[in-house]
Amino acid sequence: MTDVVLAVDIGGTKTAVALVDRAGTILDGLTAPTPALDGPEAVVRTVADLGGLLVRRASADARLCGLGVATAGVVDVRAGRIVSSTDTMARWAGTPLAARVREALGALLAEGAEVHVQNDVDAHAVGEFRHGAAHGARSALIVAVGTGVGAGIVLDGRVLRGARHVAGEIAHVPVPGAEHLRCPCGRAGHLEAIGSGVGMHRHYVSLGGDAAVPDARGIVALARDGDPVARRALDDSAAAVGRAVAGAVTLLDPELVVVTGGVAQIGADWWHPMTAALGAEVIDVLSDVPVVPGALAGEAPLRGAAASVWELVDERAVAA
Ligand SMILES: [Zn+2]
Repeated sequence: MTDVVLAVDIGGTKTAVALVDRAGTILDGLTAPTPALDGPEAVVRTVADLGGLLVRRASADARLCGLGVATAGVVDVRAGRIVSSTDTMARWAGTPLAARVREALGALLAEGAEVHVQNDVDAHAVGEFRHGAAHGARSALIVAVGTGVGAGIVLDGRVLRGARHVAGEIAHVPVPGAEHLRCPCGRAGHLEAIGSGVGMHRHYVSLGGDAAVPDARGIVALARDGDPVARRALDDSAAAVGRAVAGAVTLLDPELVVVTGGVAQIGADWWHPMTAALGAEVIDVLSDVPVVPGALAGEAPLRGAAASVWELVDERAVAA
């Protein structure tokens, strides 16, 4: 028998599943739209359907000894339960997800299989830590900047979850320069209000930019063409991320910082103002903290979800 785990990444728009071996290699994968507005039953059914397809087409000697889930929302990892979530996922808060997916997969799981559920940004961080840009480090701050902003903190090889399951929620850190913008949490002046792709766009419009420009990508194109308002929106948005990261680096002193996500992939136009603001804020002794791009892109949450459940499987083997 060959032991494998099933990794699942439940996002607001799509759900990805993969079979992952002990080395962390993705053997096979499938993706489908997340029925996010149809409630948890429909989402769990999608996970079970995709997982079932993968297991059936896997080699006959594959034994599914674990299920690792990365999901949108704040997660109580120990209880395997969703603590809270945005409206993107209907009735997601309160879902005992670990129990539900275990039940839905039923006999596909080997007897005594482990189930691990965590927030998708934390899973992303674990992926980069175990297999990607932070591989080999003992500690890292992993920041994802895309439609939203999130972070995962790894200290001494362990993800910091926090007393209320929100450690790493850098989105809601106050940053100078965002006072005029409302954050999705309802408060003004938080990082996500200016630093996300959506935030960059709101800031651009607040500066008098053309509201017909659809998104951050449009702003980047204009900035590259020399539009001063677009350039300022891009610079301010990136600098806000740099300042927030500087605060986190000062508190945590991680070995390195990984910055990933769709906005971070804009390239030098974003990366330069972000690192310049970070460099300007940190004290001298922190000025050489490496800041590097992510290495796994979209695969990071799946590979992190798999790594976390493999850890449980191995701990149990040691205890047995
Ligand atoms: Zn907020």
